[in-house]
Amino acid sequence: MAMQKFAVTPGFEVGGTLLRPEQLAAIGAVIGEDAKVEMTTFKQLYVEMKEERIEEAQEALKKVGLQIHPAGFYTKSLISCNFCRGAEDAGLDIARKLDEAIAGHEAPSPLKVGYAGCALGTSEPLLKDIAVVKMRDKYDIYVGGESKGLKAALAQLLTANVEEDRLIPVVTSLISDFQQNGKKKEKYSRYINRISLDHLRASSII
Ligand code: SF4
Repeated sequence: MAMQKFAVTPGFEVGGTLLRPEQLAAIGAVIGEDAKVEMTTFKQLYVEMKEERIEEAQEALKKVGLQIHPAGFYTKSLISCNFCRGAEDAGLDIARKLDEAIAGHEAPSPLKVGYAGCALGTSEPLLKDIAVVKMRDKYDIYVGGESKGLKAALAQLLTANVEEDRLIPVVTSLISDFQQNGKKKEKYSRYINRISLDHLRASSII
């Protein structure tokens, strides 16, 4: 029997990425005994289950408020902080809109976008492919972080003081640029090194 994998997330709120008891119960109840649930490093659960029952299971998971996304070479859900400064100060609304705009798009390689509601950056945004850090009422955007391997590196500042109404257009343009110009299986950090920050800055993206 063919197995298929997909991603599940409850989204985020003040307090972080929180799964409610009924959501955990629903996952256990609908995916079947031979399914596997993997805790990923990017705040999504990966569910691998029988292909024939997948549609029915996903509908049941959506009913308890879980979001379903594709697994693999796609943009991941926004990897946010815990919004400890409160929804307004840490930018929960804009983070949710950004998450809606960026999650689940096909990409040359899995793409992680991080978000921090202040410069303390407790969600480790600079280790993500694209990072957004809220600085008072504006946003700094970093690119090219690499958390894996011996050549791990921090993301570099692409542009600072981005106004809130420009944040989503800039991040979605970065994703479109990678979709169009990245090579198959190319990591985003390698892509950034190949095309250079100056090239990105000179483009119409920012
Ligand atoms: S990044 Fe800032 S607002 Fe977000 S959880 Fe950490 S300290 Fe709090």
